Amino acid sequence: MRREGRRSVGVEGAGDVAVVNTCCVTHEAVSKSRQAVSRAARTHARVYATGCGANLNGALDGLAENVSVVPGPSEGLPAAVAGDVGAIACIRSEHRLERTRAFVKIQDGCSFSCAFCVIPLVRGGTRSRSAAAVLAEIVRRAGQGHREIVLTGVNLGCFRDREASFTLPRLVREAGAIPGVERLRLSSIEVNHVDDELVAALRETPTVSRHLHVPLQSGDDGVLRAMARRYTAAQYLAKLAPLADFNLTTDVVVGFPGEDGEAFGRTLRLVEDAGITKVHAFPYSPRPGTATAAADTVAPAVKRERNARLRALSDELSRRRWESRIGTTDLVLVDRPGRGYADDYTPWLLDGEVGALVPARAVGLSEDGILAVAA
Ligand code: SF4
Repeated sequence: MRREGRRSVGVEGAGDVAVVNTCCVTHEAVSKSRQAVSRAARTHARVYATGCGANLNGALDGLAENVSVVPGPSEGLPAAVAGDVGAIACIRSEHRLERTRAFVKIQDGCSFSCAFCVIPLVRGGTRSRSAAAVLAEIVRRAGQGHREIVLTGVNLGCFRDREASFTLPRLVREAGAIPGVERLRLSSIEVNHVDDELVAALRETPTVSRHLHVPLQSGDDGVLRAMARRYTAAQYLAKLAPLADFNLTTDVVVGFPGEDGEAFGRTLRLVEDAGITKVHAFPYSPRPGTATAAADTVAPAVKRERNARLRALSDELSRRRWESRIGTTDLVLVDRPGRGYADDYTPWLLDGEVGALVPARAVGLSEDGILAVAA
C-alpha cells in the first residue's frame, strides 16, 4: 500500500486494502467522504478511513463492517494503518511516480480560531516539519523528476523551525534554489501572513510561480469580524497590492450567519477590486464544536443563489485573465495530454510531452483554458 495514498492497490496474499483520506470541512465534504468510504467498502476487503472526518465525533459512524475508522494526528496515520494491515508491501520511496509536480507538506494543523472552522478541532494546533526534512524531501522529489514543487499545509504562514532559524520566506528561497526545482508554488497562504518579507521572497526567487491562493472568506467587515478572521476588507486589499501582477485566487464562504444582500455585494466587489481570477465558493454549513455550530440563518435557496452569482463572477474573471494572456509567451508545464499550466498557473491547452516545460505562445481562448502553440 502507499503510505500516504488515497487510492487502493491490490495486496498479494492479504486481500485488497483501501485507505480513504476523509474531509469534514463542510457538511457536503462529510457526505462525499462517507460515499467514498462506502464505495471502497464494496470493492475492498478492508477499508481504513483516515483524515479529518475520522477525528470528528460521529462523522463516520454507521459505515460497513469492513471499515476501520482511524482517528489521530496525521503524523501517526501511516504507521497506525500499516501496523494494523501487517507487513505487506510498500512502494519504495525511490520509486518514480508518474507526476509532474510533487506536493511537499511543511506543516499541519492550525492555531487560529475562525468561527466557522472545524479544522483546528480535528487537525490540532500548528506544528511544523523541520526545514532540513522539508528540503531533503524536495531534493529527493526533484531527483525523481518532479519539475514543480508545491509547498502544502493547513496554514503555511505558521511554518517555523526555530532551531534552524527558518520561517516561510527563508524556506521559499532555499527550496526554490534546489537544483532540479523548476517551479515552486505555495498551496495557499492566509492574508495575515503576506508581509514584506514573504513578498520579497516570492518576487526574488526566480522559480516561484506567479500565482497565489489567498483565502478571503468574505468582503464585508462585519462578517469578517463575526468569522474572527482578524483582518478587514481594506487590509486584504492592501496586503495584495504588491502582488497585483500575480494570478490571485481565493476561497469564499457564502451565507455565513448574518450575511445579508449588502454584505454579499461587498464580497463581490472586493473579489473584483483585489484582482482575483478564481473563487472557490463554499456554502456555509454549521460544523459541530465550532463557535457558530448553532447558527445558520441564511436560507438554503439564498445560499445557492449567492453561490451561483459568485461562480459566475469567478468564470468571468478567469476569462478576463486568460484573455489578457493572448499574444504572450510563457513556459507551460504539461501535466496531462493536451494541457498544462503557465507560470501564473493559468491553464494552457497545447500538445507536448507530459512532464515537459514547453515554451508556448497564447493564441486564443476556449471554455477550458488558453489555446497555445509551441513558441
Ligand atoms: S486559518 Fe484556515 S484552517 Fe485555520 S481556523 Fe481559519 S479557516 Fe480554519
